[in-house]
Amino acid sequence: MVGWIIPPPKPPIKSKSKLLIEKQKKIVWLKNQGFLKSKRIEDAMLKVPRELFVPYFYRDHTYEELPFPLPGKNSTISCPHSYPMFYEAINLTKGDNFLEVGTGSGYGAVLAREIVGSLGRVTTIEIDSATIQYARQIINTFNYHNLYVIKGDGGNGYEVHAPYDKICITVACPKIPPPLIAQLKEGGTLITPCLTTRPIQDLIVLEKHKDGTIIKRVVEKVLYVLLQGDYATEI
Ligand code: SAH
Repeated sequence: MVGWIIPPPKPPIKSKSKLLIEKQKKIVWLKNQGFLKSKRIEDAMLKVPRELFVPYFYRDHTYEELPFPLPGKNSTISCPHSYPMFYEAINLTKGDNFLEVGTGSGYGAVLAREIVGSLGRVTTIEIDSATIQYARQIINTFNYHNLYVIKGDGGNGYEVHAPYDKICITVACPKIPPPLIAQLKEGGTLITPCLTTRPIQDLIVLEKHKDGTIIKRVVEKVLYVLLQGDYATEI
């Protein structure tokens, strides 16, 4: 993986209570660093056990700022800070109809489901068969009625549940796929890493205003795996 030194895999030895203490410290750190601002996202992070989503042999490193490889060709569970960074930037809120492109481990989708609550809806799309199998097996243990895990090319979105209040693309795109902009509600917000510069990418927030105007702004520099499928190359 470019940009990080990943520790060697080994069987985990940390207890549940040790991981809980590490999680609480991580939340304080995320707040101090400015990644985590709102109580609702903090509550969701406290509630969801990230260690369940981290591959077994990396579990002791759950609360370190490292991405870990997942089953699948190019899949990772992103660093802990990336989730509040994305969700604060789009102001993910209770009741939102939310779409995630790139399920990965499923951690981001479950966290989002905790934020949008039982009246919202989360749809997450994953292109890789091995990755989606891994994610489904974990997500199913949560028994949510309103979290949908879809196998497919997220560049084309998921028309069935559109329009979306918020869309999160967790892979780097050469250009924001037009179907995703089309499936965003007027008044909605989308966030995505974009390959405007390489290898470090611009994290872009796109707002679709009520009159249809599109406003984009760069909020951070990030490093994500690349989008696959129909919109993998410049269009
Ligand atoms: N949301 C997760 C995953 C990040 S890794 C997290 O933040 O931890 C990105 C994932 O996107 C990988 O699992 C990869 O297989 C998937 N992916 C890449 N291109 C995709 C596409 N066109 N549609 C759906 N998923 C895609």
